[in-house]
Amino acid sequence: MKYKPADRIQDLQYFGEFGGVNPSISDSSTYTFLSAKTMFDTFEGNAEGCYLYSRHSSPSNLYLGEALAAMEGTETANVTASGMGAITSALLQLCKNGDHIVCSRTIYGGTYAFLKNFAPQLGITTTFVDITKTDVVEAAIQKNTKVIYCESVSNPLLEVADIEELAKIAKTNKLQLLVDNTFSPLSISPAKLGADVVIHSLTKFINGSSDTVGGVVCGSRDFINDLRNVNDGAAMLLGPTMDSLRAASILKNLRTLHIRMKQHSHNAQFLAEKFQEDGFKTVYPGLKSHPGHVLFKKMMNEDYGFGGMLTIDVGSLAKANELMELMQKENLGYLAVSLGFYKTLFSAPGTSTSSEIPEEEQREMGLSDGLIRFSIGLDNNIERTYEKMKECMIKVGVLEAEIA
Ligand SMILES: *Cc1c(COP(=O)(O)O)cnc(C)c1O
Repeated sequence: MKYKPADRIQDLQYFGEFGGVNPSISDSSTYTFLSAKTMFDTFEGNAEGCYLYSRHSSPSNLYLGEALAAMEGTETANVTASGMGAITSALLQLCKNGDHIVCSRTIYGGTYAFLKNFAPQLGITTTFVDITKTDVVEAAIQKNTKVIYCESVSNPLLEVADIEELAKIAKTNKLQLLVDNTFSPLSISPAKLGADVVIHSLTKFINGSSDTVGGVVCGSRDFINDLRNVNDGAAMLLGPTMDSLRAASILKNLRTLHIRMKQHSHNAQFLAEKFQEDGFKTVYPGLKSHPGHVLFKKMMNEDYGFGGMLTIDVGSLAKANELMELMQKENLGYLAVSLGFYKTLFSAPGTSTSSEIPEEEQREMGLSDGLIRFSIGLDNNIERTYEKMKECMIKVGVLEAEIA
């Protein structure tokens, strides 16, 4: 019953051409055929193990895709050049002119902008809902709805979606449930809870070294084949293709993901508890005060914790900016968007990653001005980090110095 995603990744091995411990990198855009007949069959998708052209597939991309499919427990996967490349191609494969999507209102800013501003140009409309209220989700379903879309743990408010419940609703209404699992790799396995398609931005924790963008769509063999279809596949025709060299480097980083996630989670749990004790409004799914804590616990795979993301509210944007600048000066982290780096990253979501969301809607969903989003790093001594952060907080006046 217990799902062990890291063990499944570990069980996969691919040797290089000369017995290398890492698979060889396929450094070619095109592939030769010994017979013209095989080339035709490959075009038609009937020649297993043959490669045609690297926008369609390449050995290196397949290795990475299979490792990610093993992690998520899906039949297979298709890697893409970015997380947005994965999200947009999956959605455009499933939704055509006249179709409708029910989507969480707290999602990645780029996904929000795509659904709000871009997809309607193609005749695809979206209703944004509070994903934690499953009755509201159900009520938003229309005759033309094709997809329910959410993030396991949402960006930036860290709301937790009840994937099992959403999967039931999707099944009853013959919809596809798409889950972006970028914030909780290994911790949560959406496909095991009933999601049809699982998406990641590999840019974040999975690659973990902030040196590339990348994405993946994990799903059934049929769906992934549809995505890659030479005649009408979104991943084939829109061209969001990952380069082989990158696929190889991301696969090597994936090998240490379990160790990194444990440390991210350990450090984030420690800081979240301290920040909460200090009186900050702290949002972290590992805190008992988090509305999704019990749900996360019920869904999670053991060992990997509640993830590396947390938010605190320091009262105003001015204070948030002052604090972030000082923490950066003290080398406690970087004032930068993105997440999953070895170093702590912090940003004010309202003016950065969620700035696509209109201010009024930001307020409505609880995205306040003084919010700082942290992606907690792999710091070896998190107590020391905390003490230094506290000094910064006292200096900028968001925390009172303790009276000795
Ligand atoms: C970053 C991110 C994306 C987009 O991924 P890119 O690799 O930047 O295209 C999508 N979803 C979530 C939750 C993200 O954090």
